[in-house]
Amino acid sequence: MHLVTRANWGAKPPRFPLVQIASTRGVKVHYEGAPVPADLAKPENHSKCAGRVRAIQADHLANRKENYSDIAYSFVVCPHGHVFEGRGLHKLQAANGNHQLNVNHYSVCGMVGDSGLTQPTDAQLDGIRDAIDLLREKGGAGAEIKGHRDGFATMCPGDPLEAWVKKGAPRPVAA
Ligand SMILES: [Zn+2]
Ligand SMILES: [Zn+2]
Repeated sequence: MHLVTRANWGAKPPRFPLVQIASTRGVKVHYEGAPVPADLAKPENHSKCAGRVRAIQADHLANRKENYSDIAYSFVVCPHGHVFEGRGLHKLQAANGNHQLNVNHYSVCGMVGDSGLTQPTDAQLDGIRDAIDLLREKGGAGAEIKGHRDGFATMCPGDPLEAWVKKGAPRPVAA
């Protein structure tokens, strides 16, 4: 697993201390819900991924309506399969729509959008699965894997990721 720690991607500190949690029922999968450049998945464009995670964090820190403490997600996974640490293990995340939904599940965001790059790459599905397995092994996540739209009115995580989640989020098999 290619883990990129907060220090490695240049995270800002949280605005308020994050809330410690022991466990969750499982994990909800998200997408960016915004345009993502169609060519982001090219190998040479991985150099842009850390900057995109910094931009997501900056957006969330500036969002006074939601009053986020930090980037909302537990982890973010780029098209090259690298797993960027968001709030991380044993921290209450804020992406699932309301407090109870946030308590119920961790969140993993795939860096795909509602236009441009909309189809997750195989490396990305592997990376999302890496994040889910890490949350289960070290973060007390239970067995549930769902999409953001399961139980909340949203398009997120988009049809391709939702279809994958519905299949049980399997690792892609080499053809
Ligand atoms: Zn979402
Ligand atoms: Zn990348």
